[in-house]
Amino acid sequence: MRAARLHGPDDVRVEDVPEPVGEVVVTVRAATTCGTDLKMLRHGHPTLAAYPAPFGHETAGERIDTGERVLVGDSVPCGTCPPCRAGRTHLCRAMTWVYGGFAERIAAPAAALHSIPGALPFSAAAMAEPLAACVHAVGRGTSERAVAVLGGGTIGLMLARLLVLDGRDVAVIDRHPERRAQADDLGARGVDALEPGAVALVFEAVGRPEAWHAALLLVAPGGRVVMVGGCPGGDVALPAVRIHYDEVDVVGAFHHRPAEIDEALLLLSTGAVDHAAFAGPTVGLDDLAAALVDPPFGAEARKLVVDPTR
Ligand SMILES: [Zn+2]
Ligand SMILES: [Zn+2]
Repeated sequence: MRAARLHGPDDVRVEDVPEPVGEVVVTVRAATTCGTDLKMLRHGHPTLAAYPAPFGHETAGERIDTGERVLVGDSVPCGTCPPCRAGRTHLCRAMTWVYGGFAERIAAPAAALHSIPGALPFSAAAMAEPLAACVHAVGRGTSERAVAVLGGGTIGLMLARLLVLDGRDVAVIDRHPERRAQADDLGARGVDALEPGAVALVFEAVGRPEAWHAALLLVAPGGRVVMVGGCPGGDVALPAVRIHYDEVDVVGAFHHRPAEIDEALLLLSTGAVDHAAFAGPTVGLDDLAAALVDPPFGAEARKLVVDPTR
């Protein structure tokens, strides 16, 4: 079958590979892209297999054995390590990562599969993976009414939409007017800056050291910052004075639990989160690498939809 695989930094090749082998094989109907895919393409990633590595982790399709429409979750927790036993399966110490959505077929453990509700399109169902991470991140916040989301990429905008649905007053901070307009369309408020101290809950959704730093300068004394964007590499210098003298809580938000994927699928199928707000053009495997590096939708925050039959 045909698959796009990573052979090294900035080296993706579409090639004929052996049929995938696993508990269940799924015919891929749609796989969406995100910032993590670009990170993986550019720099590799701690969760990637050895090169040549399959990639694509937002995947929906049909089981070959039963025809059932499924979202292929990108991870299966072990169930027995200390975090798993404590119910924090997203922190599993022996996670099985399920990558390879940018291919005609993908093999997965049955435990990775989630039934797609109703007539939700495959390209929309694939977005349940990142949306589940946002559901998880909102749970790491507080109940503050006024909230800021730093970064209006697809994760920032999904977060904003979830917070709007929860009745919050949400400002999305982004330097791109296109993304601020998208935030407005989702019921949030796109702004290019916010007065420091204006909100007591900030979600960082950029994933760069400067943004982690800026989030800590922005939040009100006694407030909380949720770091949703992963920073590549090692340490980040943060303004310790905010954490100590102003008692700002800094918490991380990573990944999701299986139940949060089902919640995300439901939000997408009811239209509470409109997948069209995040969908970009459909591309085939051969056009994927170029479209990841130079997205055809400019500065807008959107996802490519990969159709491996193209
Ligand atoms: Zn993703
Ligand atoms: Zn575990």
